[in-house]
Amino acid sequence: MTVRLVIFGRQGAGKGTQCVNIVNTYGVAHISTGDMLRAAVAAGTEMGLKAKEVMDSGGLVGDDIINGIVADRLTEPDASGPGFVLDGYPRTQPQAEALLENLRSDDYSLDAVINLNVPLDEVTARMKSRGRADDTDEAIARRLELYEQETRPVLDFFEEQGLLVTVDGLGSEEEVSSRLIAAINEHL
Ligand code: AMP
Repeated sequence: MTVRLVIFGRQGAGKGTQCVNIVNTYGVAHISTGDMLRAAVAAGTEMGLKAKEVMDSGGLVGDDIINGIVADRLTEPDASGPGFVLDGYPRTQPQAEALLENLRSDDYSLDAVINLNVPLDEVTARMKSRGRADDTDEAIARRLELYEQETRPVLDFFEEQGLLVTVDGLGSEEEVSSRLIAAINEHL
């Protein structure tokens, strides 16, 4: 079985943690654009050098760059076989359209788009305590603002397509995980 998922949630909603549980349950590839960009920065590639400044300020890296790296990643065997969970992508409407177009060209669609829902005050507190280098107050505020401006409309777009599954992200990791897996199973 191939399972194709997208997970949404504000930064700090626990997407990374829950993706591990999704990977363990369905055997899919975890595709995090943030992780891929951080790896490019660490490796000092040309793309990494360009992306670093944008990432440090909490801005969004250009759609064309992101769409290109995701399209390439989706052709790798671990993703094209068992499927994938996309984490941190798509974050803008052009990214959402590029993803669906890319899948459609292979006659595929998404199985479900998950919205891991955690209130704003809670994610702000969690982000401040996680201590990542790009988690300055300004960058946190900017990312949350861009989430509302650019990413919220993408959720509405997937909702219109009947793909959106909203899961309450409050509670222990185990509680959230069993809620999440049950919600995904209902959609498969
Ligand atoms: P994340 O780990 O998902 O919070 O991503 C860290 C940073 O990478 C973000 O603040 C953005 O600057 C950049 N980034 C990650 N994914 C995307 C994307 N889909 N579109 C644009 N920028 C992205």
